[in-house]
Amino acid sequence: MTPTSTSPTSSSSSSSLAERFASAQSRIREAARAAGRSPHELSLIVVTKNHPAQLVRELADLGVQDVAENRHQEAAEKSAELADLGLRWHFVGQLQTNKARAVTQYSRVIHSVDRPRLVNALDAVGESVEVFLQLNLTEDPARGGCRPEQLTELTEQAAAATHLRVRGVMAVAPLGEEPRAAFARLRSYSDRVREILPDATAISAGMSHDFEAAIAEGATHLRIGAAITGNRPLGD
Ligand SMILES: *Cc1c(COP(=O)(O)O)cnc(C)c1O
Repeated sequence: MTPTSTSPTSSSSSSSLAERFASAQSRIREAARAAGRSPHELSLIVVTKNHPAQLVRELADLGVQDVAENRHQEAAEKSAELADLGLRWHFVGQLQTNKARAVTQYSRVIHSVDRPRLVNALDAVGESVEVFLQLNLTEDPARGGCRPEQLTELTEQAAAATHLRVRGVMAVAPLGEEPRAAFARLRSYSDRVREILPDATAISAGMSHDFEAAIAEGATHLRIGAAITGNRPLGD
């Protein structure tokens, strides 16, 4: 029998981490079934930003192997503290070129590659890195992600890089738009990338509030935070 988990985490929800994790998994399976897809096509990455290392440890105890962070400092500290767990750390935040080398020291999967200069900076590190090309699905240029009209150029650049393996595309659904429509656009951008890189079939999409829509539109890598971790502690 598993010990009773008196979750010391800061969740404001009364359900336990294990319960929320199980519930998310069953919703994922259900959405896959509804979309006529196999749940085995879907990778779940738990976004642990703003949560303490202890919560990540509890997730690992539940069988989680893939976790994501969006800020270098926090990710570097947590991944160092939890090095014994052998987790795969995904980086999903906006990434400055001068942090490229540091981030690849603990994260070999970067979901937020959105400009040629970042491709060059990552390639220059000389370590193999898996990348997703991030699209900006909004009209706001301050958001992370490349403009769709720049995608072909970015894809060609990444394809030419020696140390990068392009897995596919990534996006965050815009606020104020039906997520499924946004994810349908992302799928069309995935088609465009695959014309250049046929193996870049992955689609990183779907967060706590929209992962069912993402699954319906072909997402393969779900990045789910709060629905599993509970609400993030305040402070940022
Ligand atoms: C925080 C974050 C997520 C997870 O969001 P939730 O709403 O907590 O599920 C996914 N992707 C990115 C890029 C994020 O920054």
